[in-house]
Amino acid sequence: MKAVVFDKHGGPEVLRYTDVPEPELRSGEVLVRVRACALNHLDLWVRGGLPGVPIPLPHIPGSDVAGVIAKIGPNVTTVTPGQKVLLAPGVSCGKCSACLAGFDNQCPQFTNLGYMIDGGCAEFLRCPEVNCFPYPENLSFEQAAAVPLVFQTAWHMLLTRARLRPAEEVLILGAGSGVGSTAIQIAGMLGCRVIATGGDEGKLAKARALGADECINHKTQRIKDEVRRLTAKRGVDVVFEHVGTATWEDSLASLARGGRLVTCGATTGYDAKIDLRFLFSRQLSILGSYMGTKSEFAAVLKLVATGRLKPVLDRTFPLAECAAAHTYLEGGRQFGKVVVVVH
Ligand SMILES: [Zn+2]
Repeated sequence: MKAVVFDKHGGPEVLRYTDVPEPELRSGEVLVRVRACALNHLDLWVRGGLPGVPIPLPHIPGSDVAGVIAKIGPNVTTVTPGQKVLLAPGVSCGKCSACLAGFDNQCPQFTNLGYMIDGGCAEFLRCPEVNCFPYPENLSFEQAAAVPLVFQTAWHMLLTRARLRPAEEVLILGAGSGVGSTAIQIAGMLGCRVIATGGDEGKLAKARALGADECINHKTQRIKDEVRRLTAKRGVDVVFEHVGTATWEDSLASLARGGRLVTCGATTGYDAKIDLRFLFSRQLSILGSYMGTKSEFAAVLKLVATGRLKPVLDRTFPLAECAAAHTYLEGGRQFGKVVVVVH
């Protein structure tokens, strides 16, 4: 089969479009004919290499897969060949206490398709049967692939971790990112007042169209000053963080008393400082969040299937041009998801 593979970590140039053997199925696994695979920042990190994370090489990246069941392995009972599926990105053991409690993203063996195991930038992908979810028939393969990772991540952050309540005020950083464009919609659905940030007016106009009530251009405006102005000095109840070092100080300073900061990533760096007096006297909460659970994915998928939540697709690339897609994603000019299409 054709696949995008890298044998060593590095820039987009390490990605090779080549022939590799089709994966063999083990008990409880299915072979999916990939039709579209969305990219995430995770793909850039996996390709570049992460300290202390021994990614098995050679490696096929890609976590967000929409496709069709091509074959089923032994003991598979719930899906059949020919069936369209959207895959949950998270793979876990299914047996430990975290998995049994439904917190599969806290499983010690938790990983994502395309992270510690091969992913979807290929014609075929092997995955556990339990990762197959009903295909949202209102969406094309490209649109469907844009859903899983960012929708489950934003859902887990806002609803499960930060316990966002209707009519609260929320600051969403990076409106143009996959998680940002999703978070705007989820918060809007709850009737929250959404303040979104972005680096150019074009992105901010798109954020407004998705439901942002207020927008801050972080290139020309100071986020904490604008939040203060927009909330009559009160601050917001929830800050949706994934930027890290560049925005951390402003994010903390934007919180109202009792506010919650929830973070799923740090695209500009991991170093952050906090004044503990500020943390305790204002009774703030700082919440880490990682991916989402399969049951959350099932919930968010219902809202996607009825059109209440919509994937935001920026542009597509053919599988053979996956390296160009990585370069484009790294450039940060996109609004929404960058998707690789497999013909
Ligand atoms: Zn487990």
